[in-house]
Amino acid sequence: MADPETAQRLAAVCSSVEKIRGRLLNSPAGNDDILEEVLIAARSDGEIAGPVDVLHAVLQALGDAQGLYSYSDNGRTVDRGVHPAGIDRERPAEAVYLCPAARCARFWWPQGPVPVARCAISGEALRWDRL
Ligand SMILES: [Zn+2]
Repeated sequence: MADPETAQRLAAVCSSVEKIRGRLLNSPAGNDDILEEVLIAARSDGEIAGPVDVLHAVLQALGDAQGLYSYSDNGRTVDRGVHPAGIDRERPAEAVYLCPAARCARFWWPQGPVPVARCAISGEALRWDRL
């Protein structure tokens, strides 16, 4: 796993990759190369702190003062559309979902009838765990 700061920043990529991509594509540079670099590095377990730092700085330069942290949905549940998933209403309150590869610091609380969130880096559903 990356250092804690990189893992925090990566959590934003994991949860909000499409939002970040949209931001980059609508920027003056008009490309998402740096985001692709981050994804490639993360997927290949390469050196990731460097590309993540650059992405963070680019977002700040575009006017997102919090950089990648503006995109983190840690702890929040977003509506990802409705489809029948195995919903277990008896799930204990202390259950939490974590990044499947333990690559980033993302976490997600199961709330209501929404499908389990997926990691944008690996495409896998988040991994159930207990606090
Ligand atoms: Zn992840």
